[in-house]
Amino acid sequence: THFGFREVPKDEKAGLVRGVFDSVAENYDLMNDLMSGGVHRLWKSAMIDWLMPRKGQHLLDVAGGTGDIAFRFLDAVEGDGRVTVLDINHAMLSVGQDRAIDQGRLTGLDWVNGDAQSLPLPDKSVDAYTIAFGIRNVTDIPKALREAYRVLKPGGRFLCLEFSKVEAPALKEFYDFYSFKLLPEIGGLVAKDKPSYQYLVESIRLFPDADRFAEMLREAGFGQVKYRRLSGGIAALHSAWRL
Ligand code: SAM
Repeated sequence: THFGFREVPKDEKAGLVRGVFDSVAENYDLMNDLMSGGVHRLWKSAMIDWLMPRKGQHLLDVAGGTGDIAFRFLDAVEGDGRVTVLDINHAMLSVGQDRAIDQGRLTGLDWVNGDAQSLPLPDKSVDAYTIAFGIRNVTDIPKALREAYRVLKPGGRFLCLEFSKVEAPALKEFYDFYSFKLLPEIGGLVAKDKPSYQYLVESIRLFPDADRFAEMLREAGFGQVKYRRLSGGIAALHSAWRL
């Protein structure tokens, strides 16, 4: 409300998002821990818990960045599974590949440079689709959701973790102050990049609320659409199935 921001025009968004993640890639993992106080780890674990991974599954992790979801999935299936980590940004993927090597993860991972809006995968080819903190960066969200539906096998599972809307007034006041005032300053001081962190905060505010996003999933063809709010609505987990 009293913190103003402007909506980024659609034709500028892709270029802006590219610039942001080129700029933040190197510090991305550190900044996630710093800015969320480590809580992003709990949210990602909640995502993998709800997914209930099974051995032998092929997961497509879109906007997979530096590999957090992929690594958790592989741990859950004790290495007996496969993850295609897809991201539009080279810099994020190469940080992820370095991390994989450092952690001795040599099998089960494919790193693919691609766009959520036109996935380079065949129809009905994956068992599960995840996207964590990625969908709000996509220019045409309905298009990305239709692509998710297309590549999932019938019976396949969709899970999305994304920032959402805080409801409780006291938490909201603190959260607004934290995200609009403090967070860009931290981004400026630690990552030397205040504008990128301003973009991140603004993109969170512009993302639809959980009910609206559930509706978008139904419009893309998904069934059994459900969601869970995390940490008072700071984030939300959406689950859906290709039936
Ligand atoms: N999933 C990771 C995580 O949770 O730590 C990374 C999330 S990061 C906030 C968002 C990622 O979305 C970036 O790596 C960015 O390059 C990627 N991204 C943005 N637009 C995309 C698109 N259209 N298709 C695929 N990836 C995209």
